[in-house]
Amino acid sequence: MRDSTNEVLRAIATYGPISRAQLARDLGLSGPTLTQSTRYLFERGLITELEQSPSTGGRPATLLGLVANAGQVLGVKLAEDHAVGVCVNLNSEILWSFEEPFSSRGEKAVAELTRILRKHVKKVRGQLLGIGIGFPGVVSSVDAGTAHSSMLGWDNLKVGLTISNSLNTPVLLENDVNTLAVTESLYGHGRDVSNFLTVTLGRGIGMGLVINGELYAGAYGAGEFGHVSAVTDGLECECGKFGCLETVASSPAIQAKAVRAGYVSANATMTDLLNIARRDKKIALDLFRVPAELLGLALANVVNVFGPELILISGEGVEGWDLWKSAFEKSLEANVVAALRKYDVEVDPWDDMKWALGASAIVLQASLSRSPHTNSVSNEVKNRLRIASDSGKRIS
Ligand SMILES: [Zn+2]
Repeated sequence: MRDSTNEVLRAIATYGPISRAQLARDLGLSGPTLTQSTRYLFERGLITELEQSPSTGGRPATLLGLVANAGQVLGVKLAEDHAVGVCVNLNSEILWSFEEPFSSRGEKAVAELTRILRKHVKKVRGQLLGIGIGFPGVVSSVDAGTAHSSMLGWDNLKVGLTISNSLNTPVLLENDVNTLAVTESLYGHGRDVSNFLTVTLGRGIGMGLVINGELYAGAYGAGEFGHVSAVTDGLECECGKFGCLETVASSPAIQAKAVRAGYVSANATMTDLLNIARRDKKIALDLFRVPAELLGLALANVVNVFGPELILISGEGVEGWDLWKSAFEKSLEANVVAALRKYDVEVDPWDDMKWALGASAIVLQASLSRSPHTNSVSNEVKNRLRIASDSGKRIS
């Protein structure tokens, strides 16, 4: 596909249904170039004309949209003890979903994951473009899907390659906070914003950076926000450093402090702890004020460097956001330079399914990517989209 055609497809996938006039304006394309691109996409059965009546009456407008069922994608979000997945069409509509117990630890983890995925791949009707897997960790080689995750107990594990070979399907692995950032940028709060940060709170603390509309990946990974240094002479972190933000502001760190102070017993849940803190202001301050202030300070440092328009806060830790909010906001504002103090902060409730949707979005984005820095996996996804489009009518 030529560049402008890919741009048109990408714009229809992201903003569609959309009119031809709007497309030409948004992409800065001439009439003939746009016609050429849309003809190519029509011929391959990837897009279709939809009629939409304007609310004010008058002539119905003809809009362009994707032929949703020309291809399907599986998106999976992995946690230590379970996997949540969705099957979506090209419009990112969830066709069905699943949740399965999954144990990430031990030698058989990848074999178990393959078995789970094989079962669901069999249910896909039509062309499967690929499988996206979001997990709490780092990918060191995109082509091989090599994963590192202290949370899942994975060290240099060739997860992507193994599953891809077994199921004969492209597999894209991505840090789960990044998959969330991609979902937000395609369908969520980040849709109309080019520069934003997604921060996740919970067992770990993560960050996804969207800079100039693209997920920022760094040279060797990025967004290790939980491991910025927050306190001197701090506790040892899972990563081997001392005094990381996670050692004071992650859910396990707050729970450990509550147990040490005798507020809860060692087997109390986070929900028990939150209930106790909400009933007793002194306990709430003792447990949450310092973590909230340090989170605000650490985030202010990032804001001062990147100057985002929007900060999204999510993850299972936002269940207790009422206890963080005030101290966090004060600390953030006090530490951001005045000229950059224009960001909005939005807090999103925790939703496993949204993360799985994000994993599928990684595959959809690969199929529509305009990035010249492609890899063999996303090229294979693009090939499959072409094959799907060649046989699109037969499938739908
Ligand atoms: Zn650390």
